[in-house]
Amino acid sequence: MDKGSTVAVIGAGIIGVTSAYMLVQAGFRVVLLDSDEPMKGTSFANAAQLSFDNADAMASPALLRKLPAILLGREPAFRLDWRQSPGWLSWGARFLMQGRAGSESHNSHYLARLALHSREQLHALLRVHPLSFHHRCTGRLQIYERAADLARAARHIEHKGRWGCRLQLLDRAACLALEPLLSQWRGDWVGGVYAPRDEVGDAPAFAEGLLALMRETDRLEERYRTRVLRLLIRKRHIEALATPAGRVEADAYVLATGAGGQALVRELGLHLPIYPVKGHSLTVPATARAPEVSVSDVSGRVVFTRLGERLRVAGGADLVGFDTRPSPKRIGYLLELCRRRLPEAGRYDEPLHGWAGLRPVTPDSLPIIGRAGADNLYFNLGHGMLGWTLAMGSASLLAAQIGGQPLPVASAGFTPQEQGLNSVRFK
Ligand SMILES: Cc1cc2nc3c(=O)[nH]c(=O)nc-3n(C[C@H](O)[C@H](O)[C@H](O)COP(=O)(O)OP(=O)(O)OC[C@H]3O[C@@H](n4cnc5c(N)ncnc54)[C@H](O)[C@@H]3O)c2cc1C
Repeated sequence: MDKGSTVAVIGAGIIGVTSAYMLVQAGFRVVLLDSDEPMKGTSFANAAQLSFDNADAMASPALLRKLPAILLGREPAFRLDWRQSPGWLSWGARFLMQGRAGSESHNSHYLARLALHSREQLHALLRVHPLSFHHRCTGRLQIYERAADLARAARHIEHKGRWGCRLQLLDRAACLALEPLLSQWRGDWVGGVYAPRDEVGDAPAFAEGLLALMRETDRLEERYRTRVLRLLIRKRHIEALATPAGRVEADAYVLATGAGGQALVRELGLHLPIYPVKGHSLTVPATARAPEVSVSDVSGRVVFTRLGERLRVAGGADLVGFDTRPSPKRIGYLLELCRRRLPEAGRYDEPLHGWAGLRPVTPDSLPIIGRAGADNLYFNLGHGMLGWTLAMGSASLLAAQIGGQPLPVASAGFTPQEQGLNSVRFK
């Protein structure tokens, strides 16, 4: 597509905003639409981790081992409501198939490639535009309670080293030397895996920075509180978007609708292999005893991230459909873990901000990036647990595809066709 053409990006979460930015950078005009204000969906209050060296697939042998306990409701980090929307069982079966060791390794390898490209893109941007978003490069430490789990993680480190990821195995003393504030951690633990190059940052503040940069050009048109109702298609070509405010026309269209978007593509005969996996977060004022390094509690499946004056704790994986309301029980679980793990890190008695979001998860945890369904329809969605981490890399790949440029990272693994969306042949 020629520079100067117009691309409509549907969805102004972190994936839509970074896509818009990369397209504007590549010389396109962009119309950015969202049914809400930007960054009010899943990107709003995530765990803030840029897990460049820890971008692993969700379905794994470790998760499969927990399956009986999850099904019996004995794993507090997971919740499964059997009365869900149709289709989740077939998605669930595909997800479980991806948990075999070979598939997990394959999927995590693809994710590592995209995550490392994402880091390059983020750093290249920040060298030119030092945006302010509580960005810190203090690394991420995953804490293990059981020696057997840590030994398994050690084998993973060696494996991932061959893909260019950098992870270190630390015993408990080394963890404490790295982050002395972990002395407050209650409960037994044996050590951890440290990713020195992992980073943290506030996704909405970052997106606001990108939007401000785009507004300095004359190539961004923002249309918020505008729900896209339909894709108007004729002869395998999208002609316009139908919205309550009328038609929106562009030369190409990008679906960056996160866990939504299923209804929009149904008319094209497509089914998105994406299911919402709900997670919760809690944000409290941080104290001087909040660790600098971002910490993950592997057994509780929660992460603790300091964002300036705030402490964010996030976790949980609930298959409960599309309900985005925070559950008081889930928020209570996070609060309990805060008090148990890092009792001195936050002011837990002050008013708390509880939040929930829907991770758009594909069975193999690989995002869908590319063209399908029409000659001018592109996808950039399905980033699951890693949307913030993968955003810049995914946007860079998408912009190259739309612009007909050499791909900055191989698209294998992420094409809509590999995810079972129909392929369209073009000249
Ligand atoms: C608790 C939790 C913790 C997480 N922690 C991390 C982390 O530490 N690191 C990490 O990398 N990732 C993390 N994630 C995952 C990450 O937040 C998501 O992958 C990412 O936010 C997905 O971004 P998105 O832009 O695809 O979706 P969204 O942010 O949901 O954006 C999609 C947008 O599309 C809009 N939309 C949908 N349908 C329509 C329509 N028909 N018309 C117009 N607009 C529409 C929605 O309003 C929404 O704004 C976490 C997620 C959760 C829930």
